[in-house]
Amino acid sequence: MSVLVFLEFNNNELKETSKQALTYANDINENVYAISELKISNDVVESLGKFGVSIFLINTVDFNENNILKCIIPTIEEFKINCIIFPKTNSFSYLSSILSTKLNFPLINNVNSVARFENKICLKSTIFSGKAEADIEIDSNSCILVLNKNIINSTSYKKSVIIKNLINKNDNSLSNNVVSLKKEKLEGDILLNDADIVVSAGRGLKGPENWKMIEKLAKILNAGTACSKPVSDAGWRPHHEHVGQTGLKISPNIYIAVGISGAIQHLAGVNSSKIIVVINNDPEAPFFKHADYGIIGDAFDVIPKFIDALK
Ligand SMILES: Cc1cc2nc3c(=O)[nH]c(=O)nc-3n(C[C@H](O)[C@H](O)[C@H](O)COP(=O)(O)OP(=O)(O)OC[C@H]3O[C@@H](n4cnc5c(N)ncnc54)[C@H](O)[C@@H]3O)c2cc1C
Repeated sequence: MSVLVFLEFNNNELKETSKQALTYANDINENVYAISELKISNDVVESLGKFGVSIFLINTVDFNENNILKCIIPTIEEFKINCIIFPKTNSFSYLSSILSTKLNFPLINNVNSVARFENKICLKSTIFSGKAEADIEIDSNSCILVLNKNIINSTSYKKSVIIKNLINKNDNSLSNNVVSLKKEKLEGDILLNDADIVVSAGRGLKGPENWKMIEKLAKILNAGTACSKPVSDAGWRPHHEHVGQTGLKISPNIYIAVGISGAIQHLAGVNSSKIIVVINNDPEAPFFKHADYGIIGDAFDVIPKFIDALK
């Protein structure tokens, strides 16, 4: 097995989900290739050895369809890579599907366990919006795995990184049909997908003006902020904070839900969080059934007290 990991950075820092993907790859084969869409400095490339990168593929192109066909696929073929690993993020869902189609590699989403490579590739993945787990056997020597967050702890290595260039196959017959119209890069101190702790709030907060206390709590906890769908639909919070079936799916270590009822569509995006804390004034709120810790109370009383206690 030759393994390639697609990496993501935030402000030149390798994201935790990418570090976990590298550890996962090293468990399969210690000769790990890595690539990133972002241009990164030599210093940062060299530092990737401590996260488990053996060979870094220097990339100068966007991951649009044309470049995938011209550069990424020929490179994967040239280096005989047969296992491609993605940390689960929105930006990689398009790329993983297109590579699966073009290379004819089986694609497994929501991978939830370390893979065993025997005659077949055996692993577990979450299905039905995280409500069940499937045992998967892949009858193929190749695969693309999209990893759930926190299924493995990132480890440190002592590797020196070898740098290689992408193969560039300039073939005019390649498709130019798909054009990327708009790409929005989210930046910030704590991105939702990477956050270890997430403070999320719903319609129980009554209006956007009341999010100050949520932001304050998140800041003290070094947490990301999220919200329910009606909240982002109403424009109280930006759409990229919406979690659930139709929004982001996240798996932080701690998910704190304030004034959110716990509808099934919301749970679909957060039920793989390690610890769920629910704050709601209705003791019958469905979210309590899924909570590890619950506080029955008015958010406007509880959150300021919570903040004071943490201070
Ligand atoms: C096809 C489809 C897809 C959907 N996708 C998503 C999705 O991806 N994500 C999502 O979130 N929803 C989604 N929904 C909507 C979902 O069904 C719920 O309507 C939504 O999650 C409810 O949001 P909420 O909990 O913020 O609001 P509400 O249901 O109005 O709940 C507010 C909660 O706040 C509590 N509350 C009120 N005041 C206070 C207070 N002062 N202190 C403490 N608690 C208080 C109430 O007891 C209540 O439990 C989807 C729905 C459909 C049909």
